[in-house]
Amino acid sequence: MVTEVINTERQPEAGTRQGAKLLREGALVAFPTETVYGLGANGLDEAAVRSIFAAKGRPSDNPLILHVSRKSDVQPLWDTVPRRARQLMDAFWPGPLTLICRRSAIVPDAVTGGLDTVAVRMPANRTAHMLIQKAGVPVAAPSANLSGRPSPTTAAHVLEDMDGRIPLILDGGPCRYGVESTVLSLCGAPTILRPGAITLEMLSAVVGEVQVAKSILAPLGQGETAASPGMKYKHYAPKAEVVVITGETQKIAKKVCEMYNLAEMQGKNVEIAATIQTKGFYKGKKCVILGDRNHPETLCATLFSSLRNIDERADLILAEGIPTDHAGLAYMNRLLRAAGFQLIEA
Ligand code: AMP
Ligand code: MG
Repeated sequence: MVTEVINTERQPEAGTRQGAKLLREGALVAFPTETVYGLGANGLDEAAVRSIFAAKGRPSDNPLILHVSRKSDVQPLWDTVPRRARQLMDAFWPGPLTLICRRSAIVPDAVTGGLDTVAVRMPANRTAHMLIQKAGVPVAAPSANLSGRPSPTTAAHVLEDMDGRIPLILDGGPCRYGVESTVLSLCGAPTILRPGAITLEMLSAVVGEVQVAKSILAPLGQGETAASPGMKYKHYAPKAEVVVITGETQKIAKKVCEMYNLAEMQGKNVEIAATIQTKGFYKGKKCVILGDRNHPETLCATLFSSLRNIDERADLILAEGIPTDHAGLAYMNRLLRAAGFQLIEA
């Protein structure tokens, strides 16, 4: 199969029209969102949804998010729309917040992995919005990477993983946030299953107390089940080994330098994922500046693309940890998973 790429910054109408036609025919289309690139299929077409799992190599019990272009489109997908869901939709949709409620009968089992709940989001990205609207159906879409790889934040990343596997990629430029949506379950007490750009603090301001699922910053223990099936799988992993170093900023930098020197003596290709506050400590060492420690959303925006990039050169990545409030929770969640939870306290 030949994979066509259409730039929707130059051709928004023609690109999304062709994408919507393919979706209605049961084919897969990769498209930009404000979080990461998605791999879309008609969410009400069981066979089309199954082909997403095949193209990604995704385990079939890991459910997908349905993407809609209007708030009223959630009504047919959930058995009821709780009051808290309405409040959150009014506050954060369109945007990077996914809400989970009890499913209705029209949602195929392939979407939910057999669960009695379904996740729905309304993206803000213009290409995504136009594509979903033109398709006229909810669009099931996980991130458009091969299962286990870092999520794609540019069309070039999607092509790396999906070339020859899907007919069309819509290229709308780099994604604004760079990490996947916040996933919030509203079945019972509101609980964050996956942190994202809509933070715990922002959600609490609208609905009061919000809980955080246990598996967000620590691996699941023996016999523990994941609140979100995706959490039990290896994720976001580059081929290189990743180690996270946490603690007070100056101590982190000192520890990173020690580890770097040791790794180099052992003949390893080592590189540092640094921040603007610490780059001065790493003179003469290979390092990439991800962003600003005081603005974790800047680190989120570059994390996956940096991991893909550094991965082409290094076999060991030393990455700095940050505090886990605000967008720091999303950043540390993705980074720790990329590191297989290898964490060193400086
Ligand atoms: P991705 O599609 O790669 O962004 O992953 C979607 C994430 O949402 C995965 O971690 C899923 O496990 C999670 N998810 C989707 N639907 C549900 C659901 N009904 N219940 C719990 N988690 C869900
Ligand atoms: Mg994913």
